Amino acid sequence: MNEETYIGWSSVPRGMKVRLADFHTGLAKNLKRDKKGKKAIKQWAMESLNENREALSTAHDLFWTDKRYSLLIILQGMDTAGKDGAIKHVMSGLNPQGCRVESFGVPTRNELNYPFLWRFWRSLPRKGEIGIFNRSYYEDVLVPKIHPEILDTQRLPPGYGSKSFWDARFEDIISFEKQLVNNGVIILKFFLHISFEEQRNRLISRLKTESKQWKFSSSDLSERDHWKQYQEVYEEIFSRTSTDYAPWYIIPADYKWVARTMIADLIVLSIRQLDLRYPEITEIQKVEIEAALEKLQNTEKNPANK
Ligand code: ADP
Repeated sequence: MNEETYIGWSSVPRGMKVRLADFHTGLAKNLKRDKKGKKAIKQWAMESLNENREALSTAHDLFWTDKRYSLLIILQGMDTAGKDGAIKHVMSGLNPQGCRVESFGVPTRNELNYPFLWRFWRSLPRKGEIGIFNRSYYEDVLVPKIHPEILDTQRLPPGYGSKSFWDARFEDIISFEKQLVNNGVIILKFFLHISFEEQRNRLISRLKTESKQWKFSSSDLSERDHWKQYQEVYEEIFSRTSTDYAPWYIIPADYKWVARTMIADLIVLSIRQLDLRYPEITEIQKVEIEAALEKLQNTEKNPANK
């Protein structure tokens, strides 16, 4: 059995008209019915998750040493899609010195003083770092398309909310990403794709489990009422902003272990593709290393014992 074919990720080809219903949220249909198969896949995914964590750590070490690139991971998804858990998982394989997570909520009064991309510019990972955006500038299309009244409070020039306004926003996003890529930022965009039913289960679990109740917000339910609209705007986002240099990956997320394995896999893959190497040691350095080893191993005495 080739496990990967059952949980494989899909990147969105540039220009593809996306219908989210065509992307599964769990496992391939035939496997869902086959309980034994599902168990084997889960076991494989759990093992692969551990291996990935090590691979991630090695890849990140090289990335951090090289310092020519940075990696920007964008995480989007409906409420309860598992963004926080995925971040925790990915982070557990990284060197804390070389990564940062930025979470973006409703823009503050101060943030609204600037063009919408400003807060993302200033939160970019530095060279050598892996940066995770927990929500991103895609919310600046997503939320106000569903709740256009939000734009009334954002002190925007006339014409906001029109077709040309949205076209300009998409254009800004595409050219922002292009600019980043031109300057050594690698961009991975992940959409954690859960089903309507799975969101219901997770919300119920959130309401019933004491340690999760704090996460519940009544807006989770009101936004759920807009599920269809959210899916449609996401489809528009993927269709318009998946590019060769910054593709969207639609990650089936009904099973957390599937989503986390895939995300870690894709990060490792994208770093490995850079074919980075530790800096070459020059002849002079080699001599210095030999001399230092010789000194430490044979000649040094603890001055306190003299
Ligand atoms: P999360 O749901 O990611 O755990 P929060 O509970 O802090 O985090 O929710 C952040 C909220 O901010 C979300 O409802 C999100 O849609 C909203 N948000 C983020 N960016 C924007 C934006 N640009 N415009 C309007 N709302 C936004």
